[in-house]
Order: sequence, then C-alpha cells, then structure tokens
Amino acid sequence: MSARAWRLVLLGPPGVGKGTQGRRLAQAFGVPQIATGDIFRNAVKDRTPMGTAAKSYIDAGKLVPDDVTIGLVEERLARPDAQAGFILDGFPRTAQQATALDALVQRKGLRLDGVIEIKVDAAEVIRRLTGRRLCAVCQTPYHLESASPKLPGVCDRCGGPLVQREDDDEKTVVNRLDEYQRKTAPLAEYYRGVGLLRVVDGNGDMDTVFARIMTALGAAVGPAA
Ligand code: AMP
Repeated sequence: MSARAWRLVLLGPPGVGKGTQGRRLAQAFGVPQIATGDIFRNAVKDRTPMGTAAKSYIDAGKLVPDDVTIGLVEERLARPDAQAGFILDGFPRTAQQATALDALVQRKGLRLDGVIEIKVDAAEVIRRLTGRRLCAVCQTPYHLESASPKLPGVCDRCGGPLVQREDDDEKTVVNRLDEYQRKTAPLAEYYRGVGLLRVVDGNGDMDTVFARIMTALGAAVGPAA
C-alpha cells in the first residue's frame, strides 16, 4: 500500500482523533502528516512572524485567516517529501481553503484520493479535549481517563512532562467547536458531492478506528496501484 502516493484529508472536529490517526496513516503510507495546528504551534513557540500573526487567533479558539493558512500549506506541499503524497490533518477548514487545495493539486496534475470524516458525538469530543494531555517533549498524546500514563504526569515513552494544550481549556474548546460547526462541517457536503467523502465512526479505541479508516480507504480508492 505504501508504494503509491496517497493524498488524503482528515476532517472532523478538534479532539476527534485526527492527529492520532494521521500519524498512523502517515507511517503506514510513508508520507508526511501535515498538521496545520502543529505547524502554527511551533511557529508560536519559535516566535516567527507567522507565529506572532497566528497566536491571538489560536488562543481565542478562532481560525487563523485563510491567506496566512493557505500560504503556509502551499509552501509545505511544495517540499520534496510531500511529492509522494500527504495526510492533511486540520486543513482545509473553510470553503476558501478547500478551493485553494483543489487548485493546488490540480496545478500539479494530481487529485485527492479521499477525505475521511471522523465522527463522534459532541459530549465525547468535549470529554476527549478537556482530558487530553500531551508530552511536552515528544508530543505523545494521553487522556486523563482513557489513556493515562503509567506514572501520573510523566510520558511513558520519553519521561517528559505531560502538559495541557492552552486551547484545550473549556472556554476555548467551546469556541473551537463553534468555529468547526460554522466553517468546517459544511466541507463534508462539498467532498460528498465530488465523491471523495468517507465517513468513519470515531468511537472506540485507536486500533479499531484505524482499521475502519483503512477499510474506508479500500472502498474509496481500490487496491494499491
Ligand atoms: P488544531 O491543532 O488542528 O486543533 O489547531 C489549533 C489551532 O490552530 C486552531 O484552533 C486554529 O486557531 C489554528 N488552525 C489550525 N489549522 C487551521 C486552519 N486550517 N485554518 C485556520 N486555522 C487553523
């Protein structure tokens, strides 16, 4: 399966598991996971001009303006490692971003292979987001109830400290979910209309969800070329 270029988009509200599944898909297919949220957070940490421009939006749980975000993705997709495919995690999030992505892949004479929408109900999303903790060093995700580390507050993998993302506090989470409903959720209908959408149940453990995604992709794009 890894022999072909996979160009996939992961769609779904914050906290639904796009990051976890995106990492696994990237590994399985040998293509980069391109997570705009991660890129923005690194830019904020490094205090680059883009990070400075994005910070107030991220802190408020609002979307960063389209021109900034589209420019960032254009640049990232032009890098050599993305020529063999990519897993987009957290992009596109608006109609304008979806249009820009279409134009970008078409310009290269390519097309998207599929859009996976991961679905869980709103109460579960809030539970996942507010209980989420990340290793400050290696970014491994945990959950206070359902995926706790062996030692509280310490990463099993590298011993780093576990932290809560600043925008995972309850107030910001409400804004992020509202942004999702208003601006991003309508993209599912757009991708359904062009035959790319595959909806996957995001309830259950990560192996189960991953298996569902692989099944959905088999149905979407057929056997590896
Ligand atoms: P995430 O890690 O995907 O939940 O993204 C964290 C934050 O980064 C979001 O709440 C937005 O402020 C910003 N962000 C990430 N991706 C995008 C995007 N495609 N468009 C606009 N803002 C984004």
